Amino acid sequence: MAMGLGSSFLASTSHMLTLSFDDGFKKSFYRIAEIYEQYGLHACLNVIASGHLPSFQAPDDYITSEILGDFEDWNKLQSRGHEIMPHTWKHANLTRLPFEEATALIDKISAAYIKFVTDAKTESLSCKIAEFLIASAKIFFVD
Ligand SMILES: [Zn+2]
Repeated sequence: MAMGLGSSFLASTSHMLTLSFDDGFKKSFYRIAEIYEQYGLHACLNVIASGHLPSFQAPDDYITSEILGDFEDWNKLQSRGHEIMPHTWKHANLTRLPFEEATALIDKISAAYIKFVTDAKTESLSCKIAEFLIASAKIFFVD
């Protein structure tokens, strides 16, 4: 039995908790979606945009392309109401890169979302995300 949180719950709530899940692990993201759906909730799933590409280089021993999903997975989950958000182009720490390289990676993320995420609302969302990320990046690059 689903235990969805109705609008009366949200109207009387003074605190909110947001959880987001990073990287784009295919198996666990589908499982997270199932659990959230049992409670009438939508998950915030942050995916590495190039994780499914042959050119993807694993940043560590845990984030490998074999266990990451792709935009087909993200579109399926988005069509079920879950939020698909960017978690970098290749899992690089943007604060350790030159500003131009960091913003170029942000632009690649935005372009990938426009190209591969089927929800039409995503294009404007991606542009806003890219603007936000670039503005945020500027904060880290201030002397
Ligand atoms: Zn991560």
